[in-house]
Amino acid sequence: MHCPFCNASETKVIDSRLVAEGRQVRRRRECLSCAERFTTYEEAELLLPRIVKQDGSREPFDENKLRAGFLKALEKRPVSSEDIEASIDRIKFRLRASGEREVPSRGVGEEVMTELKELDQVAYVRFASVYRSFQDINAFREEIDRLSRESKRSARDAGRHGKDPAQPELPLSDES
Ligand SMILES: [Zn+2]
Repeated sequence: MHCPFCNASETKVIDSRLVAEGRQVRRRRECLSCAERFTTYEEAELLLPRIVKQDGSREPFDENKLRAGFLKALEKRPVSSEDIEASIDRIKFRLRASGEREVPSRGVGEEVMTELKELDQVAYVRFASVYRSFQDINAFREEIDRLSRESKRSARDAGRHGKDPAQPELPLSDES
């Protein structure tokens, strides 16, 4: 491919490795004219399913929208961009692997929750409380109780993720 710096047509690959659990090839290239280096990623082009919204309308899968959802839930949380991108990647992989041409937006929301649960419990609760719009405060509390049981369990499992087993700061205030 052409050099993005000087547009020369000859570039050489100086390093090549598998990334994203083997779904992409990352190549480090060097321009033979200006010697600038850059990185390219190659992956199979598999179509993502269209999203069926609650009102029945369809729209193309939008990765930026998905990312915006993650960023909103993870605002001011100690989660790296790298981990967020890996989550988005896994969701896209699962959507493609499903082989479906269309998936309900709800299904994508559930995928996001699955990932957030691993990334950050506070973000998970934030997202879930908006997304599932808990029918009533009892349903919300049940979810919180379930989470705290799970986090105690994972604390017992010697914290493989190195997570703080402390209770998440929950957005419960004056409902009690
Ligand atoms: Zn160049």
